[in-house]
Amino acid sequence: MNTSSLSNPQPHPEIDTDDFIHLQIVHDPEAGPVNEVVRYDQFVRGLFKPDTEQVMALHMALGVAGEAGELADAIKKEYVYNKPRDLTNIIEELGDLEFYLQQVRMHYNVSRAAVLQANADKLAKRYVNLKYSDAAAIARADKKEN
Ligand SMILES: [Mg+2]
Repeated sequence: MNTSSLSNPQPHPEIDTDDFIHLQIVHDPEAGPVNEVVRYDQFVRGLFKPDTEQVMALHMALGVAGEAGELADAIKKEYVYNKPRDLTNIIEELGDLEFYLQQVRMHYNVSRAAVLQANADKLAKRYVNLKYSDAAAIARADKKEN
């Protein structure tokens, strides 16, 4: 992997380094063998349409909802309409969803690692043995007031 084009290896102070997923981008193959390695957060920052804070917040929120719907539709086609699995489409929609989720995390200046940890903390409280059960799902111990 070519890492020579990393433009800024310094992490943002508020973002956990776990968020610095690197992607290899292959530009238009007709233009020549141009490969570039980019950090995912910088990739999203560069591609998200700049606007006022309110419009960008609306854009990212609608983006999450829209892409979640597209992913659900791809799964529905397989399991409800018995169409052949379209893994290419499912990967595409997961990627679109990740794009908007990354923008949400950056908007609120929270790292993916912090989000995953908060979710794990919540679910560990709900499922004490870290195993699913209907009883624990219904009891929702994490939602009980102390
Ligand atoms: Mg999509």
